Amino acid sequence: MTKITITQAAEFIGQEVQIQGWVYNLRSSGSICFLQVRDGSGFMQAIVNKSSVSADVWQTAEKATIESSVILTGQISKHPKKEEYELQVSGIQLVQIAEEYPIGKKEHGPDFLLDQRHLWLRAPSQWAIQRIRNTVINSIYGYLNLNGFTKIDSPILTPNACEGTTELFEINYFDWAKAYLSQSGQLYIEAAIFSLGRVFDFGPVFRAEKSKTRRHLTEFWMMDAEAAFVEHEENMKIQENLICFVIEKVLEQNQKELAILERDLEPLKKIKAPFGRMTHAEAVKKLNQLGSDIKADDDLGADDETLLTQDSAVPIFVEKWPAQIKAFYMKRDESGKVALCDDLIAPEGFGEIIGGSQREDDYQTLLERIKEHKLPLDEFQWYLDLRKYGSVPHSGFGIGLERLVGWICGTHHIRETIPFPRMINRIRP
Ligand code: ATP
Repeated sequence: MTKITITQAAEFIGQEVQIQGWVYNLRSSGSICFLQVRDGSGFMQAIVNKSSVSADVWQTAEKATIESSVILTGQISKHPKKEEYELQVSGIQLVQIAEEYPIGKKEHGPDFLLDQRHLWLRAPSQWAIQRIRNTVINSIYGYLNLNGFTKIDSPILTPNACEGTTELFEINYFDWAKAYLSQSGQLYIEAAIFSLGRVFDFGPVFRAEKSKTRRHLTEFWMMDAEAAFVEHEENMKIQENLICFVIEKVLEQNQKELAILERDLEPLKKIKAPFGRMTHAEAVKKLNQLGSDIKADDDLGADDETLLTQDSAVPIFVEKWPAQIKAFYMKRDESGKVALCDDLIAPEGFGEIIGGSQREDDYQTLLERIKEHKLPLDEFQWYLDLRKYGSVPHSGFGIGLERLVGWICGTHHIRETIPFPRMINRIRP
């Protein structure tokens, strides 16, 4: 008997096969039983016809409950009109008969579903999001590998705050030091460009900020990229090409998943270079015209980001921010007042997905910045060293994976885009 996955069904029409999975829904008319089966690769209907199976098979089918694990044998048939395949069951084995499943068909509130996250992950919508997340991860690796970037892992345990700004999770490092969970690998991968030229890391980062928004998690996955001899303009070009590449791959590989999520594909199809672009000063001006009370030295709030992109089909780079509200390591323009940085804002109200900048490469200037920001010089000496031995112009950026996946999936709250979300009020399951 050939064991197949549901996605292989089309190649086995008319043949006897075996499928292993779970019954996610079922109904029976007394003479025919429809089992909706999921096997990880996809979803399929299995039909048990009382008149064409043995009494034993029929009785077993009748014992199946929602979420029971099953091994089914039968013949694959094609739906007469649709590209759908069914299994005409001839044999059934119940691997385990599931107890009454707590997640029903009725609407559940988000807290209930998050408490049941270990089970909720099985829902088709959650399956679809994780599959798209997987494509996003692989296509980020794919793009960066094709473009000369080497993956380099940055540490998660760090002796100090990377930017000295965000609140960090603190832990006791044995009995002789404090350590912090990394908020970004950026500073470490900057060191690696002097060895490898173009590098990236991709891993979990941690922020203890008390942000309770639909875009903030306390643990999320970030891809930081960093490249030697790349300045502000080229840095944005890399971000733009990377995002276009990722969207193209999801549209190529995840049609089924996007359909389950009822994601409108038109806006995604429009994501092509060039992206929109405006300076922070221009953004403030435009926002004021649109009714926002944002000031010249303010960060953009979520509402501002939505307003700014409301008429744009493509993401918008907001570049060249007032230096005083940005991190110490960002290089400034000739005026000394503007940081050569960018935030990339996704359309459709999904907000900031990337933060990037050219980095300060001059030793003295960086030293002054570290002092101005009252950062502990001892802890940053190694970072300053990079400006002593073959310093070069260089730039980089960080993508928040869950924000990117949330936008592509059209998911309102990014907590659904990570398997086990950690938020200010949630650490379980
Ligand atoms: P925000 O202003 O939205 O809080 P940030 O400016 O602190 O974000 P960066 O430090 O530039 O963000 O981080 C790079 C990227 O990481 C952001 O563009 C975003 O996609 C993502 N990100 C930042 N904070 C979070 C968070 N708490 N949860 C999920 N993703 C985040």
